[in-house]
Amino acid sequence: MTVRITFLGTGGGRHTTMYQTRCTGGMLIEHGTNPVHHLHIDPGPGALVQMNHIRYDLGKTESVIISHAHPDHYSDAPSVIEGMTRGGWKKRGHVYGSPSVINGDGDLGPCLSPYHLSLVEGVQAFRPGDVLDVDGMQVDICKAQHSDPTNVGFRFHTEQGIVSYVSDTEYTEEIAKQYIGSRVLILPVTTPHANQIKFHLCTDTAIEFCKIVQPELCVFIHLGIVMIRQGPAAQAQMCQQTTGIRTVAGEDLMVLDIGERLQLSRARTHTGEWYPRWSPQMPGKTNGSQRRNGNRPRGERNRHQPPRAPMGETAADAASTSPDQLHRRGRRSHHRGRGGREQKSNDGEALLTAPPAR
Ligand SMILES: [Zn+2]
Repeated sequence: MTVRITFLGTGGGRHTTMYQTRCTGGMLIEHGTNPVHHLHIDPGPGALVQMNHIRYDLGKTESVIISHAHPDHYSDAPSVIEGMTRGGWKKRGHVYGSPSVINGDGDLGPCLSPYHLSLVEGVQAFRPGDVLDVDGMQVDICKAQHSDPTNVGFRFHTEQGIVSYVSDTEYTEEIAKQYIGSRVLILPVTTPHANQIKFHLCTDTAIEFCKIVQPELCVFIHLGIVMIRQGPAAQAQMCQQTTGIRTVAGEDLMVLDIGERLQLSRARTHTGEWYPRWSPQMPGKTNGSQRRNGNRPRGERNRHQPPRAPMGETAADAASTSPDQLHRRGRRSHHRGRGGREQKSNDGEALLTAPPAR
C-alpha cells in the first residue's frame, strides 16, 4: 500500500497566515490497508477550503494531531472535529495535541473547547518521548525548541518507512538527531538563507538538519512571507546542491506518494458547490428518502443533488444547519418511524439522536 501525503497548505508564520499568501492547512496522511486510515496534522487556516477544492470528505478523518498552540497549526481544528464526528452526531475519532492545545499552558491555549473535545472518542496530550498508536501507526513524539515550549515533532512509522514532520523549532544537533532513519523529512523552513529568526529554521539551518538526518527526500513547508518572496524553489535547490539530498519546496495541494519510489504530483481540484454524502437533507424528508434509496450503494444517494431547502431557507442555510437545529428537526421525522435513541445514517452507521448541546 502506498502512503499518501496531501499538503493542504505550505505556508507558515503570521504574515503568510493572516494574508493566506499560501494556505496553512497542514497535511492529510493516508496510511494502512483495509481500511485506509486518514489522519489530519495541524489543521490551520485554509484546511477546510482546500479540502473542499479536492473534494475530501472530512467525515473520513479518524484522527487529528495538533503540534502546538499557534493559529497557523490549529485554527480550523474545531470544524475538522465537527466534520470527523459528522456534524457532532457520531462520537468518533481521536484528537492528539500538545498540553498547550489540550489544557492550555501559560498564556497559550487551550485551543479546543470542552464541547469539541466531548465529541470525539479519545483525547490525548503528548510530551516528548511518548509513543502513540494512531489508528495502528506508531508515532514517536520528539523534542522541539519553540516559543510554545510544549511544541513537539513527529516520526510516523508508516508501512513505507519513517516519515518525519518536524514542527516549528530552532536547530540544534540534538533535535536533528532524533530524526535519523527518516525516509522523508518534512521541515518547517520559515525564512530563507541568511535570514535566521528565533525559534524557527531558515535555509542554512535546514541544510545542517538535512546533513544529520540524511533522508531520501526533504520537503520545505511552513514558508514565511519573506521566504515566499525570495523563491522557495531556489532555496530548496540550495539545500539539494549543498547536501546532495533531494529537496523540494512544498506547494499547496502537492501530493507525495510513498511506495517503493517517492512520487510527487498535484491533487485534482474542483470548482462549484459540493455536498458530501452525509450532509443534511431537507428537514422532514430524511427518513423517507433513506427508505426510498436504501438499496443504493454507499455514497450513491443524491450524489449529484444539492440539499433541498425549505421555504425561506437557502440551500446554503440547509447545509449549515446547526446540530441543535438538526436534532429538533431529526426528532420530527425520526419519531414518525423508528423511535429509540439511535437512527441510521445514509451509509448504515449508527448515529446519535443528538450531539451534546453547545
Ligand atoms: Zn509556531
